Amino acid sequence: MQRAGKGKTPRRAKKPSNIEKDPVGVYCRIRPLGGEDEECCVEMISSSTIQLHAPDGLKANRNGEYKETQYSFKKVFGIKTTQIELFKDVAKPLMEDLIHGKNGLLFTYGVTGSGKTYTMTGSPGEGGLLPRSLDMLFNSIGPFQAKRFVFKPDDKNGIEIQSQVDALLERQKRDNQQSVPKTPSSRQRADPEFADMINPEEACKSETVDEDCCYSVLVSYIEIYNNYIYDLLEDAPFDLIRPKPPQSKILREDQNHNMYVAGCTEVEVKSTEEAFEVFWKGQKKRRIANTQLNRESSRSHSVFTVKLVQAPLDADGDYILQDKNQVNVSQLCLVDLAGSERTNRTRAEGSRLREAGNINQSLMTLRTCMEVLRENQMCGTNRMVPYRDSKVTHLFKNYFDGEGKVRMIVCVNPKADDYEETLLVMRFAEMTQEVEVARPVDRPICGLAAGRRQRNQAFKEELSRRLEERGGPSNGDPGLMNQLIESLPPLPSCELSDPSDDQTLPRLIEVLERRHRIRQMMTEQFNQTANTIKSKLQQFDSQLTAKETALYDQQSKLGEKDKVINNQRTELERLEKKSKTLEYKIDILQKTTEMYEQDKRSLQHELESREQRLQKELAEKRRLEQRMQGMVTDTRAKWEKECERRVNAKQLEMQNKLWVKDEKLKQLKAIVTESGGGLGSSPTEQPRKPERPSRERDRHNAQKRSASPPPPSDLGQTPLRQNRATVRAVQDPFPTSTPSSSFPSVASCISDWEHRFPTDSGSQSREPGTPQFGNRTLTPCHSASSVGRRRGQRWAPETEAPAAAFVSELDKEAGTRGNVFKTRGGGQAVQFTDIETLKQECPTAPSRKRRSGSGEGPTQTDNIENRAPVPNTSSSHGYQKRRRP
Ligand code: ADP
Ligand code: MG
Repeated sequence: MQRAGKGKTPRRAKKPSNIEKDPVGVYCRIRPLGGEDEECCVEMISSSTIQLHAPDGLKANRNGEYKETQYSFKKVFGIKTTQIELFKDVAKPLMEDLIHGKNGLLFTYGVTGSGKTYTMTGSPGEGGLLPRSLDMLFNSIGPFQAKRFVFKPDDKNGIEIQSQVDALLERQKRDNQQSVPKTPSSRQRADPEFADMINPEEACKSETVDEDCCYSVLVSYIEIYNNYIYDLLEDAPFDLIRPKPPQSKILREDQNHNMYVAGCTEVEVKSTEEAFEVFWKGQKKRRIANTQLNRESSRSHSVFTVKLVQAPLDADGDYILQDKNQVNVSQLCLVDLAGSERTNRTRAEGSRLREAGNINQSLMTLRTCMEVLRENQMCGTNRMVPYRDSKVTHLFKNYFDGEGKVRMIVCVNPKADDYEETLLVMRFAEMTQEVEVARPVDRPICGLAAGRRQRNQAFKEELSRRLEERGGPSNGDPGLMNQLIESLPPLPSCELSDPSDDQTLPRLIEVLERRHRIRQMMTEQFNQTANTIKSKLQQFDSQLTAKETALYDQQSKLGEKDKVINNQRTELERLEKKSKTLEYKIDILQKTTEMYEQDKRSLQHELESREQRLQKELAEKRRLEQRMQGMVTDTRAKWEKECERRVNAKQLEMQNKLWVKDEKLKQLKAIVTESGGGLGSSPTEQPRKPERPSRERDRHNAQKRSASPPPPSDLGQTPLRQNRATVRAVQDPFPTSTPSSSFPSVASCISDWEHRFPTDSGSQSREPGTPQFGNRTLTPCHSASSVGRRRGQRWAPETEAPAAAFVSELDKEAGTRGNVFKTRGGGQAVQFTDIETLKQECPTAPSRKRRSGSGEGPTQTDNIENRAPVPNTSSSHGYQKRRRP
């Protein structure tokens, strides 16, 4: 006898990191209204949503103010839903799981009368989920069931495997105990049979049963009433006269930390009928207890558990593998919960009130557990779930803590009376849907080759066929026996009528002797044949053994190959998964590449446009440069011309100075000659003398009105020469070389002008009209008009206009003749607003025209003025002014 140490009634989660979870599947079933005239407050608005309408009475109570609330479920089953439809959607997947070694929990929830029991158990012809589930189970595993008592529950929620002999002995023992044969006729006909419940056409079957396993089904049925657990399949005799309250059971935790009802009867059943019979036995007991103990059945929870034990066949496919680790136990609990309505609604009194309170308490605990679970799962909290507060939640703790599939059918009676209770049911359902339960994992594969059972069956059939062919049946054929007897010498008549007959007996003796001989011969022959056959059989036997060993070898090899294949399959799956991940990554990379390419394209586009712009700008720049160069060339040419002109003017001026000096020299010579020749000078010279004072006055006036620097000192002038020279040194930072000695070079003139130009204003400010100038002998003629005062002196009509630079100099003094502004090329330009022509007439050189250099403006003026005092040479001086607008 072996103990299955690995019974896994709801297996406790080992808390792996990547545990897969499914939410509790919550379905809604709406039952039809009791009467047609009843008010309906539930409406199915889609295959997964219902809407609750407050009944009219309630609306009136709340001043017409009411809400229409909608609730969603995994699926909603309307009033026309048949039991088979519901089964296929809700219970069939659970049954499939059970057959594949996974646990499930299915419960109905709702107020009393909402159709919970109808949904779970059903009625004759309308079998509920329970009989249908049993039917499907036996339809699927029927031919693969183990002999009774091979799997035997121990009292610690485990399963033991018994040897075939032990199981046989136990079967015989039980058969002997059941002296009264149990026939359908012996049962009360009031109990419905399974055949009454389900139409055979609606039979379901799982197509994916592992045929290389042996199965056994164990059922148990308990009732939880007033937070006590009662075993409904217990065989304790019920005393009708003095009924004893039934003994309640306690919950225990097994070595795998699964909860179980200690000492609960588990009945091994081999067919749907038998299982349903056991269920009905429990139902009956429940009903009797309720009646006898004055209990209300709607206040109790009933739990029908189907436990499926499966163990693989050995390599020959003949016997169950005697390996306790290979035994797998899965279970499906079908729970019909008590009515969820509140206590006051049932008008319960006395002990009933207490019961009702308790029942509600256990449903309250269920609700609290769901709430805490949901909170823990959603918020990551670790609050303790109060499973232990009620028996119902404690029993199913491992479905929520461990793994399994949990489904709930919320039953709704759409009548108006139930509206408020239905609202509470809906809220509970809504919350329960958010609770997640770990998905049960696939059980490990035993590692033996698949199809063992089929191969074994085929082998057995083939063996018997061959045996039949060779020796025929081993039992003696009566015909053959008769033939054999007939072939022996016939017995003579043995009748002795005459005492002296001495022939009959000897004849008989002779025949008998002959027969004896034949028989001995035949025996010898038979023995011979038997020996031959025996040896042949032995030979055949050894051959068979050899073949069997070979087969076994092959099978083990096949098993190994299978293992390899399985390994490769898992490897393949892994690789497929990996390739999928890689494909996904490639996808992402491709997308990224596309994005980058797009970026690249746009950047290139931008680059091109910028290059184009750059080109354009470059071209523009070149054009500008060319234009600037043109302008520079123009300006340079203009300035060169200008400089040339100024040089010419300077030359002229210098010539003039030379000439003046000559004149002075001549005068000096004349004076010297006069003084040397006696005082009687020529009387013709006299009248010119008086001009001096007037010129000097003019000169003084001019000095006063003009801000131009004072004239440079002259050679051979008045005693003030020394002072004037000093003044001039101050005035002119770049004094020209002595005018009498030589002409200045062109370059020096330009640089002189360039340096003087910006400092003129400063020199002007430094140049007040000094009293010394009043003593000068110059006598410039000037106009009394304001224009004349501002713009300079009036010279003799013949005197040519000074050069533009000189005019500009005058402009600077007056601030009106021209404008100096900065050019774009960085230089300066002068725009004339006025032109003034200076003319000087000299008696000795009447037609000579002079221009003054701009830098020498004031000096030039002085130089020109200086000519005035020359006696006998200048009769009148002035300047002409022409104005240009
Ligand atoms: P509960 O177990 O929730 O108290 P029951 O299953 O006993 O309610 O149902 C009460 C009554 O309603 C029963 O007579 C049952 O036959 C009937 N009933 C419930 N649901 C349906 C349904 N979907 N179709 C027809 N009759 C139903
Ligand atoms: Mg019920």
